Amino acid sequence: MKILFVASECTPIAKVGGLGDVIGSLPKALSKLGAEVKIIIPFYESIDRRKYQPKIVFKLDEETVLYKTRISESRVEVFLVYNKDRLSTGPIYFDKSAFVQDSREMERFLFFSKTVFQLLKDGRLFKPDIVHCHDWHTGALATLLRGKIKTVFTIHNLANQGKFNGRNLMAEGILNADKITTVSETYAKEILTKKYGDGLENLLKKRRKNLIGILNGIDYSFWPRKVHHHGHNKNSRPRFGFIARLTEQKGLGLILPIIPAIIKKSDAQFYFLGQGNDKYEKAIQALAEKYPKNIELKIGFDEKRAHKIYAESDFFLMPSLFEPSGLGQMISMRYGTIPIVRATGGLKDSVKHLKTGLVFKGDKPQDLFASVETALKYFHQPEKLAELRKNCLNQDFSWEKSAKNYIKIYKELSK
Ligand code: ADP
Repeated sequence: MKILFVASECTPIAKVGGLGDVIGSLPKALSKLGAEVKIIIPFYESIDRRKYQPKIVFKLDEETVLYKTRISESRVEVFLVYNKDRLSTGPIYFDKSAFVQDSREMERFLFFSKTVFQLLKDGRLFKPDIVHCHDWHTGALATLLRGKIKTVFTIHNLANQGKFNGRNLMAEGILNADKITTVSETYAKEILTKKYGDGLENLLKKRRKNLIGILNGIDYSFWPRKVHHHGHNKNSRPRFGFIARLTEQKGLGLILPIIPAIIKKSDAQFYFLGQGNDKYEKAIQALAEKYPKNIELKIGFDEKRAHKIYAESDFFLMPSLFEPSGLGQMISMRYGTIPIVRATGGLKDSVKHLKTGLVFKGDKPQDLFASVETALKYFHQPEKLAELRKNCLNQDFSWEKSAKNYIKIYKELSK
């Protein structure tokens, strides 16, 4: 079976968030199950040419050139579409939060969808049985392919819709794809409600028979287990990690107000890493200046530091207001770092309360605070803490199981 993945990111070639991780790892798992998967993404200016050594495959026209590279240590080929003016100039997304802020972003991905459509029509690239489209960036492609090639459309984040000039590309994907998936079972149910549906709940309800939730996995080779340095003695301070795009979604409205109280109570150490909305960047910066002994902050994208924070924190904060799947909690468990999460979406599906983490309901700062208080109690009971860590380390979030579910969908469609 031949599958073409079409997306805006692919780790490690171009990553902003979890979408990149999925595109960079699910195809490897699918290949192991016998599928032939290729990926196509835009050739952004920021892609390291020396590292990935992209080679020209052919010129589509005067301005548009198709390149090819590979995901390191795998056979999965990645095609890169280059067009200086219409696609490739500028960062991966124009806004650091990854959300659409102006029509340039829309035009870019409309161009990308049209180009991929052209390539498929020519048949020069690859003749896939299924085209697997991801998020709004590829919604227009689902429209173009309708009735021509079978498509799967995966919703990674319904809140980012690609809405401009009367078009909503997320809605087009949902409407026109043969099957729709999203990245956890709970999120698949949540998005049928007004609270989580972002205005598309009715459209999704119409298509609910073809909507399936499959939890994301993580790439264990990208997150190698290191010897863990969770030292603990009576006087050590609890360490809390936080790594995310700095947007409202990630629960900063719950975290930031309670930091002074946590510090007062426990003299905790915080490691913050992220970039995104100015409002949150400034608010965290102000806190870090106020508590220099307790808060270590980096604004920016830093893969190395992310690995270090996951490995060296005692607890990982992820009180997201909504979370389609979430990878941060899975990665932290991989390192024996205990996640503190809100009971929503993939967080609910992957973290077991008082077994592999702390799961709280409610959406107020004090709800998170109560959970942090429990965490602090555990912190001072080394046996209990060790038990939780062990449970985290014993979890299996590899892609295999989820990849099998995608294969099932592809098979059904190609009948
Ligand atoms: P989302 O897809 O909403 O951004 P996820 O939890 O699904 O959230 O995935 C986030 C991914 O991006 C994880 O691999 C996380 O480690 C990574 N990440 C987020 N922000 C940064 C950052 N500033 N630097 C390095 N990695 C980051």
